[in-house]
Amino acid sequence: MELWLSLQGIPAQGQEFTYADQAIWTDNWTAFGLKLKPGKPLTATLFVQAQGQGYLVQGAITGSVVMPCSRCVEESEQDIAASFTHFEELTGVDESYPDEKFLREAGGVPELDVAAFLWEQFALALPDKPLCRSECQGLCPRCGANLNAGVCSCPQGSADPRMAVFRSLKVPH
Ligand SMILES: [Zn+2]
Ligand SMILES: [Zn+2]
Repeated sequence: MELWLSLQGIPAQGQEFTYADQAIWTDNWTAFGLKLKPGKPLTATLFVQAQGQGYLVQGAITGSVVMPCSRCVEESEQDIAASFTHFEELTGVDESYPDEKFLREAGGVPELDVAAFLWEQFALALPDKPLCRSECQGLCPRCGANLNAGVCSCPQGSADPRMAVFRSLKVPH
């Protein structure tokens, strides 16, 4: 979705904006093919203040998403609690702001690409290795059983036979 914030008329003391349109995030995760589902509604606050030759953009995103656990691949809810401080500099005021991917100029007025900015901040806040719980036992490497549901029938204590060849190799020190 497109969502641009005009930076004209923001008072000197700054101004706060709140965004809760889920499409800011769901449109992008669908477009990027990410295995995410909505959790608690995502809400972003942006505090924008003119500063020097640009704008200071501070804020936070809170809510949650549902994504596969990195060990057992079951769906798990992951809290999102991102906070950020970002500076957008107004360079090349005549035409556009080629160095600033979140700015454009429309009719002489600088505008912030809120949707792209909030998507990037969200994406940075996603956990690399989400877990359904810290003690998740994951999947049995031999039979694929979810070990959170109980012990599988694979022989206990015997490692994957495919690894035996590596164990027999002597590593010189
Ligand atoms: Zn898990
Ligand atoms: Zn097993």
